[in-house]
Amino acid sequence: MPELRQNIITGDWVVIAPERAKRPQDFIVPTSQVNTNKDNCPFCEGTVGYKSNQKIRSASTENFYVIENKFPAFVESEDKASVRSFYPEKGFYRARAAIGDHEVVISKHHDLNLMTFSKTMMMEMFEIFCARYDAIKKDKSIVSIMPIYNHGVEAGASVSHPHAQIFASGIIANTVGRELSGAEKYYGINGSCVFCDIIDHERHEKVRIVEENADYLATTFYASRFPLETWVYPKRHDSQFENTPKKELKNLADIMHNVLQRLERNIPRMPLNFYIHTLPTIHDKSNSYHWHLEIVPRLANYGGYEIGSGVIIDVLSPEAAAEYLRKGGSSGRG
Ligand SMILES: [Zn+2]
Ligand SMILES: [Zn+2]
Ligand SMILES: [Zn+2]
Repeated sequence: MPELRQNIITGDWVVIAPERAKRPQDFIVPTSQVNTNKDNCPFCEGTVGYKSNQKIRSASTENFYVIENKFPAFVESEDKASVRSFYPEKGFYRARAAIGDHEVVISKHHDLNLMTFSKTMMMEMFEIFCARYDAIKKDKSIVSIMPIYNHGVEAGASVSHPHAQIFASGIIANTVGRELSGAEKYYGINGSCVFCDIIDHERHEKVRIVEENADYLATTFYASRFPLETWVYPKRHDSQFENTPKKELKNLADIMHNVLQRLERNIPRMPLNFYIHTLPTIHDKSNSYHWHLEIVPRLANYGGYEIGSGVIIDVLSPEAAAEYLRKGGSSGRG
C-alpha cells in the first residue's frame, strides 16, 4: 500500500510507493529497456505481453481505452478511517494512506505518439479526462485530480506505447496548493484573478504568445523553469477544467495540437510532460483560481543548485523561446 508522508519541515507531501520498484537496481533503466516492441507490449490488446488489468469499459472511445494502473501511486479504499492522518514513530511524523485513484488512458494505436495524435484523438483524450474527472470526484475521500502525459523516456514514459495517466489523491498536490494560496493572496490585494491578468498582460505585450484561438491562449511562461515551457489558458475565467463545454474542448485540442507541432518542429523527438492544474474538488468554484495546462519540455536536467535551492536556472529566455516557436513552422496541420 503506497503511503503519503509529510515533510515535517516544509509541509510538502511525498508518496512512498515501494511496489513500483523492488530493488535499487530497478532505477537504472537503460533506454533500450523501454518497450517499443508491439509483440510483448503491455498495452497492445491481444499480444502475449498484454496486461488486462481492470478495464474501465464506460470510458472507452474510438481511439482510447482506460485501465486502473497496475502499480498505483494512489489506491481506492473501502476503509474510511484510512483517509485520516496518522502519526507514526511515537507521533513525531505525519503520514496518511495514499488513498485515491490512478488510471491509465491508453491509445489504441501502438505506433502513434503524442506528436502524431490527430486533433480528433487529442479531443477524445480531453473528453476522457473530463468524464473520468466527474466519475472519480464522486469518491468523497478524493481532493485533487490531475491528468498528466509523459512523452519520451527522459520525461518518465516507462512504456513506449502512447498513454496518459490520471492521478487522484486525498491531498492537494504541493504545487497546486502553492498556486491556490498565491492566487488567493493576489485576489485579496488586486481584486482580480492573477491568471486573467496574465492573459490580458500577455495579449498586450505579445512577446511570449505562441498560439491563440477563440477560447485559448498559449504563451511561454514569464518565469519558466524549462526551455520552451509553454502554458495554455482558457481565455474565459474558469476554475474547473472538467466543466469545459465540448465546443471549447475542440479548441483546446486544436491549440494543443498546434503548440506540440511547433515544439516538435523545433526539436524533433523532444521529451516533455504536460499536466492540467484545476481546482481541487473540495471547492465548488473560485474567483481567484483559473485552470490551465502546462507543457514542460525536458531538455535540461536539474543540477545540484536547482535541487538544492529550488531556484531553477533556465538557459533559454521565454521571449526567445516564443520567437522560436512562432517561427518554427506554421500551425494548422492535422
Ligand atoms: Zn503497444
Ligand atoms: Zn481567471
Ligand atoms: Zn499550474
